Amino acid sequence: MSTLKILTFENEILHKVCKPVSKFDENLWNLLDDMKQTLLSKEGVGLAAPQVGVLKRVFIVYVNNNFFEVINPKILKTSGNQCGQEGCLSIPGKYADVTRPKFVIVEFVDRFGNKITLSGSDFLARAILHENDHLNGILYIDLLKGKK
Ligand SMILES: [Zn+2]
Repeated sequence: MSTLKILTFENEILHKVCKPVSKFDENLWNLLDDMKQTLLSKEGVGLAAPQVGVLKRVFIVYVNNNFFEVINPKILKTSGNQCGQEGCLSIPGKYADVTRPKFVIVEFVDRFGNKITLSGSDFLARAILHENDHLNGILYIDLLKGKK
C-alpha cells in the first residue's frame, strides 16, 4: 500500500465527471487500499478517486468507526435538511457551513461487485453526499452560492 498525492481544487481533474467501474480486479483493489491509507494518514472523513487523479466512480468514507468502500453509487433517496461545517482534503485548511439532506439512501457495489444498499443520516449522509458530488466534478464550494 502507498499514500497517494491529493489534488487540490485548482486541478481540472476535480471538475470532471467520473466513469463507472466495470472491472473488479487488482487494479481496483490496489486503488481502494491506497485510498484508505491516504485517508487515514490525513485523518480524513472521506476521499474520492478523482482527488487522487483517478476519474472513476469510487469513494471511501470513514465515519463513526465504520469504513465504507463505495463503487458506482446511485443516490436513491434523500430527505430532510441539515446545515453543518464541511471541509475537503482538496481544499486544505478551509471550512464552511453547507446545507445538505439529513438522510440518504444510496445503492452501490463493493470491491467484488456485490450490490449494497446503505441508509445514512446526519454526518454519514453529509459525507456520502459530499463524496458522491466529487464523482460529478462538484466541490462543496460550488454549493455555496452567494456566500463567501
Ligand atoms: Zn471533498
